[in-house]
Amino acid sequence: MVYKTNKKVVVFCSVIVFIFHLTSATDIFTCETPDAWLSADSSFQRPGSSENVAYLNTLRGMRWLDGKVKYTLDRSLNHHDKQEVSKAMAEYHAKTCVRFEPKQSSDPDYVNIEIDNSVCGVAQVCRIGGKQFARIGKNCRSMPTIVHELGHTLCLHHEHQRMDRHKYLNFRDCPEDSVHPKIPYSTPSGLYDYQSIMHYQCNSCKAGWPTQPDVQKCGMDVNNGLSVLDADHINEMYNCQGMPSAGL
Ligand SMILES: [Zn+2]
Repeated sequence: MVYKTNKKVVVFCSVIVFIFHLTSATDIFTCETPDAWLSADSSFQRPGSSENVAYLNTLRGMRWLDGKVKYTLDRSLNHHDKQEVSKAMAEYHAKTCVRFEPKQSSDPDYVNIEIDNSVCGVAQVCRIGGKQFARIGKNCRSMPTIVHELGHTLCLHHEHQRMDRHKYLNFRDCPEDSVHPKIPYSTPSGLYDYQSIMHYQCNSCKAGWPTQPDVQKCGMDVNNGLSVLDADHINEMYNCQGMPSAGL
């Protein structure tokens, strides 16, 4: 997929996919490197690191102006979906100064939230210009998945793809093509966050096994919304210091 942001720069969207597979009574993440990443402009990529496209979006400062994310709800959403979207946005409004606001005709950049039952979730990273999407589908049409996808919309990356993740995750005996590559980015605190909503559920090759003895589970297995560090990361990214959240 190719998206033009202005006359000079063509920005190629990055896509994050994660899919729940139902095994026994537990939902477990699995995910694949989306084709859209691999088809992006080669000038923006280094071999084996197509996720750099997502990182480059971050470097270009493609965040949402004043922390205001304009959105539309696609016709494909049913009543339940809309309720879950509302819960997800309320989570952001309670813990950060970011605000999701319905798109007005004068808003050029916005995210369309839509259903795609070929994926669990997929969203473009950062504000890419014009219309972009955040999609949910299958059995993932729920608040935690929407919080995760909107995290990508806000410029967050997967926690388990950090450059220093080898200190916290073990991928021993995992086939190389099953492991998500590292992405060169860092969080303001630098602390590794197993509880991040942006961390896949662990104990599989997709997100590895925790190396810290006290950690048994990761991501949505322990947290349905934004973790403390997620909120901290977003508030730092969007200069929320001193700005009240709706929940306070
Ligand atoms: Zn994701």
